[in-house]
Amino acid sequence: MNEKVAFLLNQQINKEFYSAYLYLDMANYYDEQDLDGYANYYMVQAQEERDHALLFLKYMQINGLKVTLDAIDKPDKVFTSLLDPLEMAAEHERYVTALINDIYHEAHQAKDYRTMKFLDWFVDEQMEEEDNADTMISRYKLFGQDPKGLYLLDQEYAARVYAAPSLVL
Ligand code: MG
Repeated sequence: MNEKVAFLLNQQINKEFYSAYLYLDMANYYDEQDLDGYANYYMVQAQEERDHALLFLKYMQINGLKVTLDAIDKPDKVFTSLLDPLEMAAEHERYVTALINDIYHEAHQAKDYRTMKFLDWFVDEQMEEEDNADTMISRYKLFGQDPKGLYLLDQEYAARVYAAPSLVL
């Protein structure tokens, strides 16, 4: 496999684990505010990100590539309002989309159609992640200022359950 593509795939393992870390930090923040539903939402999100990391790991293993696990950065975002994590999540997902696009670009340059096909799932996933993150912001702005509205949103996010990724390698 192309060296640059392999490097970026390996790097993405770390980026996805960092995403999981970031979402755990958001879950902690909402837990401190006693918004258990929002905390649950981000706990589930963290599990999804761990799954993404493991998919990149598995893909490298299957293709006989050496995997190097690096230290995961400390989540360094500071949340000063209930809206902060929602906005930072949306911003973070756009960054992850850009990372996926970069790997896709390199794979395309290298005529690595296998990796492009593998990444297709993540391209779709990122569309969903950005949409979900944006929806959480707009719903908070619409309903979250009102205590009853916030209570109902929190109840709804309490119902989110973990589901294994639809991509199986
Ligand atoms: Mg991810």
